[in-house]
Amino acid sequence: MKIKNLTSFLICILIIPFTYGQEKGIINNTNSPHVKLKSINMGECVWTEGFWAEKFKIAETAMLPYMESVLTGEVGHALNNFKIAAGEKEGEHQGMKWHDGDFYKFMEAKMYIYAQNKDQSILSELDEYIRIIGKAQEEDGYLQTQIQLVPTVDRYDNRRYHEMYNTGHLLTSACIHKRITGQKNFLDIAIKHANLLYTIFMPEDKKYGRFGFNQTQIMGLVELYRTTNDEKYLKLAEKFINNRGKYKVEETPSTKGYPIGDMVQEYTPLRESSEAVGHAVLALYYYAGAADVYAETGEQALIDALDRLWTNVTDKKMYVTGALGQAHYGASTNRQMIEEGFINEYMMPNMTAYNETCANICNSMFSYRMLGLHGESKYADIMELVVYNSGLSGISLEGKDYYYANPLRVIDGSRDYEKMNTEFPVRQPYLDCFCCPPNLVRTISKLSGWAYSKSHNGIAVNLFGGNKLKTTLLDGSNIELTQETNYPWEGLVKITIDKSKKDAFDVMLRIPNWAENTKIMVNDEALNLTVEAGKFAIINRKWKKGDVITIDMPMEITFIEGHTRIEEVRNQVAVKRGPIVYCVESPDLPQNTNIVDVYLNSDTLLQAKYKPDFLKGVTTISAELLLRKNSNEEKMYRTVKKPTFETYKTQLVPYYSWSNRGQAEMTVFLPILWK
Ligand SMILES: [Zn+2]
Repeated sequence: MKIKNLTSFLICILIIPFTYGQEKGIINNTNSPHVKLKSINMGECVWTEGFWAEKFKIAETAMLPYMESVLTGEVGHALNNFKIAAGEKEGEHQGMKWHDGDFYKFMEAKMYIYAQNKDQSILSELDEYIRIIGKAQEEDGYLQTQIQLVPTVDRYDNRRYHEMYNTGHLLTSACIHKRITGQKNFLDIAIKHANLLYTIFMPEDKKYGRFGFNQTQIMGLVELYRTTNDEKYLKLAEKFINNRGKYKVEETPSTKGYPIGDMVQEYTPLRESSEAVGHAVLALYYYAGAADVYAETGEQALIDALDRLWTNVTDKKMYVTGALGQAHYGASTNRQMIEEGFINEYMMPNMTAYNETCANICNSMFSYRMLGLHGESKYADIMELVVYNSGLSGISLEGKDYYYANPLRVIDGSRDYEKMNTEFPVRQPYLDCFCCPPNLVRTISKLSGWAYSKSHNGIAVNLFGGNKLKTTLLDGSNIELTQETNYPWEGLVKITIDKSKKDAFDVMLRIPNWAENTKIMVNDEALNLTVEAGKFAIINRKWKKGDVITIDMPMEITFIEGHTRIEEVRNQVAVKRGPIVYCVESPDLPQNTNIVDVYLNSDTLLQAKYKPDFLKGVTTISAELLLRKNSNEEKMYRTVKKPTFETYKTQLVPYYSWSNRGQAEMTVFLPILWK
C-alpha cells in the first residue's frame, strides 16, 4: 500500500464510524460542535424489563393503535383534512388550527415504535400517510390544511392559524423518518416546504418579522439543517430567534385574535431574557429550538440567556412534579395578558394550576438539549422528574384517555368545568385540542433514546430502566451494556459490560439530585470515587466483558416542602420516594372525606410496598393520616379553635397513576402536623 493510499485508508476508517455510526439520534447532534453529550441512535437502546419496558409495550399495543383509530377516523379527522386537501375526499377542515402538527407528532411516535420493533407494516402505513400528505402539498411547497381548506383565509396572514407550529412538527417528523427508514419521501415534502418558508421569512419584512410563533419551526429547521447539511435552514432558524423582540409590539391585522407581547415571547429579545414568560409550551419549544441553534453556532449570548431561563423555570416557576404553566389565564410581570402559561415567580396555585401536558414534556425536551450542551446531570434530573410525574399523568394507565391540564389538587365542585375547554374532572378519550396526547405518546415511545448519551471518551447513563444498549462510542469502538433494575420502585441498578474496547473509557453514572449516600461498586468492590447527588459519577478505567457496575440509590420516603415564598404550600409537604411524587386520592379515604381535611402526621410510619396487581404495578406508601373534623363550613372566614382529628390508615399512590379509579379528589401537598 502506497503512503497516499494508506493515508486515505486511515482517514476512511477514522471518519466513517464518526459520520455513519451516529447520525440517527432523536436530535442529530453528531457533528454539532458545541455539544458535550451526543445522542445515541434511535433503536440502539431497547427497554427489556420493568417500568419503561411496560410503558413502551402499552404505547405499542394500546396508545398508538387507539390514537391511530381516532386520528384517521371521523372523530379525530386529522387524516381526513389531508385527504380533502389532496382531492381524495369531500368535506371540510375539522379540528384545531394545529391539527396537522398533531398528526405529524403521531406519525413520529409510530416511527419510534418502528425503530424498536421493526414491524414493516408500520412503514407501509406511514408511506400511505406520506403519499396523501404529499398530494395535499401545493406546488410551491405550502402545506397547511387549516388554511388550504378555508377559502376565506390567506396563507401567512394571521399568526393565530399556527402555521409555524405545523411546520415545525412536519420538519421534525420528516427528519426522524429519514433517519429511521433511509427513505426520502417524507423528507422531500419537508424540504420543499422549508424552501418556501425561506423565501418568505428570510428577507427583512416587518409583517413577517413578528410572525414566527409558535416556535416549533426553530427545532424543525435545525434538524433539517442537520439532515441535509444545507446551512440556509440553520440561518432561518436563527432568524426566527433574532426577530423576536425586534419589532414594536402592537396589534396589527396579522396578530388579531391571539394575545401579543409576552404571551408569545416577542416583548423581550431572547438574549436579554432572564424570566420565562407567556404561554409555557411556546416558551419551552422556543428555548429548546434556541438550544439547538446554540449547539451549531456556539454563540455565548444565546447560551447565557438559556442558562438564565432554565434556572428561572426550574428554580422559580416549576411544580414539584416538573410541571410548567401556573395559570390558564393571567398576566406576565410586564403586565401583559397571557394564557396557559407562566405568571410570577413562586406563585404556584395547586388547584387551578394549568400544567399542560405538552408544557411539561417541553420542559424535559429543553432539559435534554441542555444536558447535551453542558454535560451536567442536573438537566437529566428534570427529564426524569417530568417523565415519571407530570408527563405520565397526562394519560390513563390503559393508554386511551387523556388529561390536558395537570393540577396538583382536585376538589369536587370547586371548578365549573362547563366553562372550560381543556380542563376535565376525568380523563377524556378525545380532546378537541389534541396537542398533548401525541406529544406524550411520542415521548414514551422515544424515551430509550434519552437513556444514554455519548461523551468524548465514554458513555453517560442518563435514565435508569431495564435495557440493552448496543452502540458505538464517538471513536467508533463498539460498546454493549445490559442494565437490570426494578427502578423506580427499587434503587438498585446493575449494569453489565457485554462488549467494549480495551482502552480505558468513562462510564458516567447520573446520581439523581435526591439520591444522597448512593453507593457504587464495580465487580463488588467499592471505588475511590466521588459520588455526589446531582452530579455524574465518572468511572474511568479499562473495562472488560463481564464487568458489573452496581449503583445502590437509597429509596427513602421523603417530605418535600416549598420555598417560603410559595404561599400555596406553606406548612404543607409533598411525599416523594426516588423520582416518584405521591398523592392522596379519595378512593383511599373514607366516603365523603374532603381532600382538604387530610393532614399528615410527621411521625407517621411510612412504608413502601410494591403491589404488582394494583394500578398496573406501583409501589404505594402506607401511612396513618389525620382527618380533620368539621372544617367544611361555607363561610369564607371564620373563627377557629383547635380542631379534632381522627387517624386513618391508608395508602398514597404515585401522582401519575391518579384518576384511574373513577372521578376522584386528589392532592399532592398535604398540611403537616409536626410532632
Ligand atoms: Zn398540549
